[in-house]
Amino acid sequence: MAEKVTSMPSTIHLALIHHPNPEAVEFISSRISHVFKIPVKLQHASFDPRIAFDSRRQQYDSTVLLAELLKEIQNKEDKIIGLTDVDLFIPVLTFVFGEAQLNGNAAIASYYRLRNAFYGLPDNPDLVLHRLEKEVIHEMGHTFNLIHCPNYRCVMQASTSVDEIDLKTGNFCPTCLEKIRQE
Ligand SMILES: [Zn+2]
Ligand SMILES: [Zn+2]
Repeated sequence: MAEKVTSMPSTIHLALIHHPNPEAVEFISSRISHVFKIPVKLQHASFDPRIAFDSRRQQYDSTVLLAELLKEIQNKEDKIIGLTDVDLFIPVLTFVFGEAQLNGNAAIASYYRLRNAFYGLPDNPDLVLHRLEKEVIHEMGHTFNLIHCPNYRCVMQASTSVDEIDLKTGNFCPTCLEKIRQE
């Protein structure tokens, strides 16, 4: 009998786009490897993010960056998540915290709008890290074929504001976790 082919990636690439701060990079790297139990390889994205810059909006097109991220991985079993400090958008929305390919290989997340300072509030570096962790795990979840989850505590709950991010946990609910394991 043929050996069962597993679709679990052997590596998750954490690609730095622009200049995410080292503290965020280290924290996210350790959280991803802990949550997904897959080794994380840190790398700088080899492309110039300015190719995705929209001068009229003063933002970066996240779909363009996703396409570039895909070119960074050779092994099609692997996943890549771009981590960035720039403001992301997709054309139909004023902004996005992140974007991912459903059941695909690439995802991206930014902490630009996760910082309290963006909303005129006092900075809270720990809070930003935990918001970013939830966004990164959420976008990674999409690459594992998870759609948005109605469980309000689940990390796969959709969030369009930082308040909504703060309400959910950074964990998958049992239903979502089971789906990832079956991938
Ligand atoms: Zn989502
Ligand atoms: Zn869930």
